[in-house]
Formats: sequence, C-alpha cells, structure tokens
Amino acid sequence: MKVLVINCGSSSLKYQLIDSDSEEVLAKGLCERIGIDGRLTHKPAAKDKVEIEADMPNHTAAVSLVLQYLTDREHGVIASLDEIGAVGHRVVHGGEKFACSTLLTDEVLAEIEKCNELAPLHNPANLIGINACKELMPGVPMVGVFDTAFHQTMPKKAFLYGLPYEYYEKYGVRRYGFHGTSHSYVSGRAAEILGKDKKDLKVIVCHLGNGASVCAVDGGRSVDTSMGFTPLEGLIMGTRSGDIDPAIIEYVAGKETMSVSEALTVLNKKSGIFGLSGGLSSDFRDLDAAKEEGNEKAAMAVSAFCYRVAKYVGAYAAAMNGVDVIVFTAGAGENDTVVRAEIVSYLGYLGIKLDEAKNNCRGKEQIISTDDSDRIAMVIPTNEELAIARETVALV
Ligand code: ADP
Repeated sequence: MKVLVINCGSSSLKYQLIDSDSEEVLAKGLCERIGIDGRLTHKPAAKDKVEIEADMPNHTAAVSLVLQYLTDREHGVIASLDEIGAVGHRVVHGGEKFACSTLLTDEVLAEIEKCNELAPLHNPANLIGINACKELMPGVPMVGVFDTAFHQTMPKKAFLYGLPYEYYEKYGVRRYGFHGTSHSYVSGRAAEILGKDKKDLKVIVCHLGNGASVCAVDGGRSVDTSMGFTPLEGLIMGTRSGDIDPAIIEYVAGKETMSVSEALTVLNKKSGIFGLSGGLSSDFRDLDAAKEEGNEKAAMAVSAFCYRVAKYVGAYAAAMNGVDVIVFTAGAGENDTVVRAEIVSYLGYLGIKLDEAKNNCRGKEQIISTDDSDRIAMVIPTNEELAIARETVALV
C-alpha cells in the first residue's frame, strides 16, 4: 500500500509518500510560507528535485499542490490519487485520551480539538492539515499518530508535578512528553539491531534535535521523559531553556518589564544554546565552529547542553534501576561527533567507553562504545515518517 504521511505546521507542511511493502520513500517534500505566499520543494525518489514558488493561501491549497505534483507526468511518482491507500498524520498532542494511533473519524477529530488548548501552536495546524486532506481525498482512510501517545505508559509518580492535585484533575496539568514516535521507533530499532526482545531491554533514548528530549524506555514502554506539560521542560535545547527555577520568570519579568507571556517567549525562542551563546546560533554546527575558534560562550553553551543530557541519563538509569543501551538520535544526536563524545565522557560509571573511530560517523546506525564496554552506546537515525506509515498501515 502507498501511504501519504503528512506533518502539518502552522505555515508549513512536510510530506512523504511511502510504499509500505518495500518501506521505500517514493517522494518527499515541503510546503513553506503557507498563508503568506508559498513555496514547494518536491523530491521524487529517482528524479530531480523541483522548487517552485506557488500561491498557497491556505493548507487546502498546499495539499492540493502536493497531490498535483505526486501525480504530475513529469515530476510525479503515481499515476492517480487512487493509488494512495491511506494518509497518516502527525498529531502533536493527544492528551490522556489517545494512548495509541487511531483512525480519524469525526468523533476522534472532535476529541483532538479538545486537546488544542494543551498545544495551541501545533494541534490546530495538525487539524487544518487533516481537514484539507479529508476534503481533497474523500473516502481515503486517515490515521492520527500522536507525539504524546508513547508516553501514556508513564506511571503517575513520573508524570505528576509537585503541585496541588486539583490542577491535574481540573486542568490536566501533568507531564505528557513529546517526540514519542521517535522514541518508540528508535528504542524498537535498538532491540532489533542488537537481536534482543525489546521486553528485555532498558533503553535511554537521547533525541537531540533543535527540540530535544530524553526518554527512559523499560521493556518497550516509556516510563519517563524529559519534556513535560509542554515541550519547554527538560534539556537545554536550540532556543528553549529546558528546566529552570520557575521563580526566575517573575524576577526577570520584573527587571525587564515583561509580561508572563513575553517571558515565556524568551524561554521558548531566545534561550537554550542560542541564549547561552549570547545569541550566536541555535545550531550546533555553528557553535562547534565558534568553539574551535576559541569562542568561550559557544563552548560553554555546548558544555551546558551535554551536562544536562548526562544528568538526565543518570536520572533515568536510576529510575529504571539500570540501563542496557543509550541511543543518540535526531539532528545533533545523529551527526555531532563532538556532542556525543562529551556526553559519553560522563558515562564512565556505567562502564561505557567511547570508541573514537566508531563515533566518527554521521547519520547511520552505529555502535559507538568500545567492545569491552559494560553497556552499549549507539547512534540510530530516527525515522518518524516511516513509523507513522507503519502505524497507519496497521490500522487500516
Ligand atoms: P528538529 O527538532 O527541527 O526536527 P532536527 O532533528 O532536524 O531538528 O535537528 C536539527 C539540529 O541538529 C540543528 O539545529 C543542528 O543543531 C543539529 N545538526 C544537524 N546536522 C548537524 C551536523 N551535521 N552536525 C552537528 N549538528 C547538526
């Protein structure tokens, strides 16, 4: 079956058409600046990439253009839309309602809408994408795959905050966790690569992209994760602060005459390694280069990031009473040899030693700990689109 995977943001839409039998990507692409002007980048597997400026007043227009290019005689990969057997949609927040992927019926869409309040930047955009696809592909089954679903196995002691209990009951204030599709895929893949049953493994996944989170996966189930009620909690990220003392908000807002909402914008968009490096960059490539040239703030930003990751790894090894495998994934986890080396340098107490030659790899599955290490550290590129396609096929 051919599955169209859609990841819809407020002004962008990423897609992949995947043949679920061969798990081959037939075409992929990105619509940007939806509602502003519009740009499509479309890459069919065996043909040249196409980049066009096109009017995209809304998401329906963007989906319509994607479908047109998928079936185009010159740039397309299928003869007609009838070849698309199902559509899998990434949905950021499923609240406590969705512990697994689900067919997107009208009732389900209404339930997802109720979660909008919990993810006001993401869920409404996801819903717009779903509705656009429903309109243009009537009768094609649609599946929602939730970033939060994998973490619904967390026990209450891990997901509750030390706040008045009524906030959880009345408002759903708790840790939800994100990047679940990636953590699930990568931890499952680790078991496959090592030839083990995932039920017998304790895995810590470090998803280190622009957004970053760590997840403790015990026996194939998420038991704790570093992102919380929103993706702001946990690690120091590209531009997000991660964990801070909440009292800082009032203190700095007072000093800088900011509202709470403005302070939160700083925590989301101007903090993390970007903020720590004095606004130099949120991209590890830039900071690694600046560090090489002797930029101390850049070096400190990278160090603070790695130290925070190492602290979470230690916390999750304790939470699971052990760990067998530590996996690095996403942009920096897959590609940044310096960041991986610094994090692994903290893991001597677990009997993990870095094999520097093996660590000199980018974007491929690779064990990076020495053969005589007590536990394994490895790199596994994430593949959220493939995971969404698999979930979609399983449901239809
Ligand atoms: P997102 O969270 O946006 O999905 P990604 O997983 O694609 O992010 O990660 C993007 C980040 O990964 C970049 O901002 C950069 O910091 C880091 N990154 C990507 N490629 C490299 C590389 N070759 N070396 C070091 N860091 C990289």
